[in-house]
Amino acid sequence: MSIAIAIDGPAGAGKSTIAKAAAKHLGFIYVDTGAMYRAIGLYTIRKGVDPKDTEKVVELLSEIEVSLARDENKNQLVILNGEDVSGLIRTEQVSMAASRVSAIPEVRAFLLNLQRDMAKANDVIMDGRDIGTVVLPDAKVKIFLTASAEIRARRRYDELIAKGEEAVYEDVLADVIERDNNDMNRPIAPLKPAEDSVIVDTSELNLEESIALLIKTIEENSK
Ligand code: C5P
Repeated sequence: MSIAIAIDGPAGAGKSTIAKAAAKHLGFIYVDTGAMYRAIGLYTIRKGVDPKDTEKVVELLSEIEVSLARDENKNQLVILNGEDVSGLIRTEQVSMAASRVSAIPEVRAFLLNLQRDMAKANDVIMDGRDIGTVVLPDAKVKIFLTASAEIRARRRYDELIAKGEEAVYEDVLADVIERDNNDMNRPIAPLKPAEDSVIVDTSELNLEESIALLIKTIEENSK
């Protein structure tokens, strides 16, 4: 039987970087489910459809095929209708569209089997918002990885500046708070810690310390 580790938490808690490093250390496959919602968000933008327009977004689903692949370094690639969109989905515009489309039940149902199949076939560390609560309720270890909104916005801001993009800290913070609100207050699969999850707060930790704490938490709880 394959082993699954569920990692949920708000946007910008460093989940993907931290979980990816932990997966490498533990020999698990890292699955970033947010990337799948982002691919659908990107498709709606390309089609000029408002990601809040449930009816139109649901109509688009029949045109969409999302799958995951791996590059030579085992990094996840997101394939949208045969096109590698891994780089294109990391913009603020796509983040917001992903957050919107992910509130639509049909979109969640569309991606659910794909996510469960990945966990059936592999030892996975799967990262998202509802992995411990909905996608993999029997996961061996469930972790809720979080940090304060201000710290998450500061990290995101620093990332954007390092990439040479223009950014205003207050705008980044407002985006983080808006996405948290969308994710926590939606009626379907809202972001919340599973009852049997371990809370890992990285507000006071640097990247190495966060990775070490995550690995330790997984090891201690998977015995
Ligand atoms: O994790 P990431 O920021 O890439 O996710 C993009 C958006 O997709 C999130 O804001 C969230 O609304 C949504 N999402 C979700 N369920 C998941 C993963 C992501 O609703 N399992």
